[in-house]
Amino acid sequence: MSRPLRIAFARIAQESNALSPVRTTFEDFERFHFMEGAALLDACGPWSTEAKKFMRNAELSGFVKAARADGAVEPVPLFSAWAIPGGPLDMATFEHFRDRLVTDLKAAGPLDGLFLSLHGAMNVDGELDPEARLVEAARTVIGDTPVGASFDLHGNLTRDKVAALDVFVAYRTNPHRDHAKVGRKAGELLIRTIRGDIQPTSAWRTLPMLLGGGPTVDFMKPMRGVYAEMDRLERDGRVLSTNLFMCHLWNNHPDLGWSVHVTTDGDQALAEQLAEEIADLAWAVKDQMPPTFLSPEEALEKVRDARLRRKLGTVCICDASDVVTAGSTGESTRLLEVFLAQGQGLETLIPLRDPVAVEALWQAPIGETVSLEVGGRLDPARNAGLHIAGTVLARKDQDVVGRMVALDLGHVTLVLTEGMAAAVKPAFFTELGLSVFKADVVVVKTLFPFRIFFLPYARMSLYVKTDGITDFDAAYELEFADPMHPRDTVYDWRPADRRRRGITG
Ligand SMILES: [Zn+2]
Repeated sequence: MSRPLRIAFARIAQESNALSPVRTTFEDFERFHFMEGAALLDACGPWSTEAKKFMRNAELSGFVKAARADGAVEPVPLFSAWAIPGGPLDMATFEHFRDRLVTDLKAAGPLDGLFLSLHGAMNVDGELDPEARLVEAARTVIGDTPVGASFDLHGNLTRDKVAALDVFVAYRTNPHRDHAKVGRKAGELLIRTIRGDIQPTSAWRTLPMLLGGGPTVDFMKPMRGVYAEMDRLERDGRVLSTNLFMCHLWNNHPDLGWSVHVTTDGDQALAEQLAEEIADLAWAVKDQMPPTFLSPEEALEKVRDARLRRKLGTVCICDASDVVTAGSTGESTRLLEVFLAQGQGLETLIPLRDPVAVEALWQAPIGETVSLEVGGRLDPARNAGLHIAGTVLARKDQDVVGRMVALDLGHVTLVLTEGMAAAVKPAFFTELGLSVFKADVVVVKTLFPFRIFFLPYARMSLYVKTDGITDFDAAYELEFADPMHPRDTVYDWRPADRRRRGITG
C-alpha cells in the first residue's frame, strides 16, 4: 500500500453511577472536556495537553503516538467528549454523540480503521449497552473496517462489546495512571491488525462478583499478584493482551461483574486457556472484603486524639459514601452536620455541592452575614438539607468545578460548589485562599487519588461511611440476572459466565 493508513479517532467517555438521579447531559461534557477536528489532533501532540486542567496525555495522545511512531499512519481526528462521573446520560445526549460519530465518519473520507476511547461503564436511560451501540453505529458507515478501543478497568464487559470490537486494551492501574500507555498499546494492536501482521483472536470470561475499594489497588495485595501473573503471560509472543475489568460497582447492567479478556495472535485454544486461568485467579480474591469504614462520630474522636499529627499537618477524611469521582452528587451534609455540632476547636474544611446556594450567594459581598439551607438539592430523597449561618469568605469561578463560594461557619469552613465537589487536590481549597496545612481536618470526596495529592499535608487519612450511593453495599439495590457475590452465596462462577456468554450445552 503506497498511501498511509488513515485511522479515525474519537472519545465518548463517562462513568455512570446508576443510583444517582442526576442526569449527565451535553453541558456536562462541554464543561469538562469537548474537542474536535484539528484542535483535537493538536491537543494530542507530544507537547500539548489533551484534557485541560485534568490530564496532559490520555488515551488519544497514546493512540496518536502509536500512529506517529509507525510512520505511515495518518490519525484522523473526529471529536473527544469526556464528562466527570455522575448519573446516566439522558437519551438525547447519547443520541447526539452517536449521530455525531456517524456523521463525522461519513465526512472523514476513506478510512482503514477507527480508534475509540471508551469508558466501559456508561449508562444511558433506556439503553443497556450504549458503548456497544456506538461501535455498531460506526459500523453502519465503515463496515468491517477494524475498530480498536481503550477501556477503563472499571468498565463492564459484555457480549455485545466483545462482538463489536476487533481489539481493545483496559487500564492496568488503579488508581489509574496509564491512560496514555493503554491508548498507545491499543493503537499499536489496531495498526498491526489493519496491516494483517496479526490475527487477533480473543476469549473472555465474566464473573458474577462485585468487589471494590482497597483490595482492588493494583500495586497492593491481592491484585499485585494477579497483575504480575498477567504481565508474565503477556511475555509469551503469542499473547497480544490480557485484560482484567474490575467493573464500576454502581453500574446498571443485569450481567454486571468482573471480567477477563485475552487476545492472542491466532491461537483460540490458548486464549481460552489463559482467560480461564486469569478468571480463576480473579475469583480467588473474592473474599478480600473492603474494610468497614468509621462512623462520622468515630472519625471525630480519632481526629481529636491525633493531636501531634494535626500539629504537623492535617487529617484527611474521605466521605466514602459520597464519592464524587465514583458518580455521587457531593451534596451529603452528614459530615458537615457532625463537625458543626461536635467539632468545636477543630479547624475543618468541607466541600459541598449546592448550585442553588452558590447562585443565591454569588452576589453577596465578602464579609456579609448569611443564613441559608444547604445540600439535598440534587438527590433530596437521600440527602437532607442543613441550615447554616456564617459569613462569606471568598469566591472563585473555576473551569471544571464552576462557581465556588467559601463560607466561614466558625470552626468549619464550607466550600460550596456549582459543579464537582470532589476536592481531589489541595488547590481546590488553596485557590480560595484557604490553608490546608493549618486545617485540622480536610474532607474530600474521592476514594484514592487524594492520597497522592494531599501527601505533603496529610498526616492521617480516615474513611467514613455516611450512607450514600457509593457505599459498597448500595450496589446491592441494583438488579442482577444471576446470584451475585458477595450479596449472594456463589460457589462457582462458571454457570453465570456460560449463560452471559451465550454458551449452551
Ligand atoms: Zn476507573
